[in-house]
Amino acid sequence: MLKTDLCIVGASYAGLACASAAVSCGLSVTVLEAKPEIGHRPHTTGILVQEAVAQLPEIPASLVRPIRGVRMYSPSLRSFDLCSDGYAFLAVDTPGLLRWMAKTLLQNENVTVHTKARFQGAEEKPDGLYLPAQDLFSSYLVGADGARSSVANHFSLGRNSEFLIGMEMEFAGHDHLDERYLHVFVDSTLAPGYIAWVVPGVGITQVGLACRHPAHLAVERLMEKIRPIFDFSTLPSLEKRGGLIPVGGVVNPIANRRALIVGDAAGMVSPLTAGGIHKALELGGLAGRAVAAHLGGHGQIPESALLAASPRYRFKRLLRRVANYGVPNSLIEFVFGNILFRRFAQLVFFHHRGLLSRKGWGAVIGKDGGGS
Ligand SMILES: Cc1cc2nc3c(=O)[nH]c(=O)nc-3n(C[C@H](O)[C@H](O)[C@H](O)COP(=O)(O)OP(=O)(O)OC[C@H]3O[C@@H](n4cnc5c(N)ncnc54)[C@H](O)[C@@H]3O)c2cc1C
Repeated sequence: MLKTDLCIVGASYAGLACASAAVSCGLSVTVLEAKPEIGHRPHTTGILVQEAVAQLPEIPASLVRPIRGVRMYSPSLRSFDLCSDGYAFLAVDTPGLLRWMAKTLLQNENVTVHTKARFQGAEEKPDGLYLPAQDLFSSYLVGADGARSSVANHFSLGRNSEFLIGMEMEFAGHDHLDERYLHVFVDSTLAPGYIAWVVPGVGITQVGLACRHPAHLAVERLMEKIRPIFDFSTLPSLEKRGGLIPVGGVVNPIANRRALIVGDAAGMVSPLTAGGIHKALELGGLAGRAVAAHLGGHGQIPESALLAASPRYRFKRLLRRVANYGVPNSLIEFVFGNILFRRFAQLVFFHHRGLLSRKGWGAVIGKDGGGS
């Protein structure tokens, strides 16, 4: 039987960040990943907000490309540009990034990563958990296994119940588009409850949309609509991907005596922007440090540290309800050029000021020069 201090289920952003932090604190770590290899067919567009770079300070430049601003399009394809001094989003080679994170992690001999290793349940023992499928004994377990977490399910922890569903296609190159911008389409018939996008990625273009209901999920319809400005019809598509994005906020509970969930598994995703990578990295790392402190006999129970650091998303959940209700295209078109709409969009995309902060609202009403 194998023995480890911490077993982590899922080797994506949250799982790898958790493993890296835990091993730096002296724990032995075993990571279980169901996929055949790390970074295999990720479901995400993979855009990093600038704040996430703090979690990955040494990320190789070949894996990312900065995108300085956002070009927003109305249902009739009118557009305006947004940017913020000194701020850039990062388009990322996601499979490359996850492989690089795993390679860096594996430089430490106290870590083992098993691929094709699906979590199938655990038996509670007096001093830990036994996982029969892997013949593995672990003192503690972290579930970083995504929106439909089997760890949450097995341990009867909180489960995500509200989702957006996203899909995107990938094409080679991006010579045909203005690569300084993330191109964002607001259209409640194409992408009800969310947005559609064209992203000049690392050597590729990603075209996708997300919405509340799978019936609306037609990337082909999006490409037909935007053909007057971006014509992808002659380009071969390289990949098609999709997945669920939990947007109901942090689930409850996120832990029991021996197991904790983090990242998408715990609903740690912005309900408004549907971005989850930043929090998966940040809170994944925090989970690793908190479990190490707990197993070392000092420090609070791990979930307290995690809950204290996770956003409550109260206001963003409220805005999500408004978005779910559906804003008609005629209204979007009407407010689109409006200065308040532009400032609000500025605040949502460059949210380092916080949606509920005095500075943030100062930017919307024009007291703080928030516009581009
Ligand atoms: C279409 C789409 C586009 C997105 N675009 C962005 C974006 O641009 N920017 C952003 O910030 N966020 C984006 N998101 C959200 C973002 O992808 C997630 O928030 C992020 O991937 C969460 O990371 P995670 O590590 O918690 O979970 P995941 O990335 O979902 O990883 C979970 C891992 O667990 C593994 N696993 C699952 N079950 C088991 C099991 N039983 N045993 C072993 N392993 C298991 C999976 O194979 C996977 O590797 C997008 C999501 C979607 C669906």
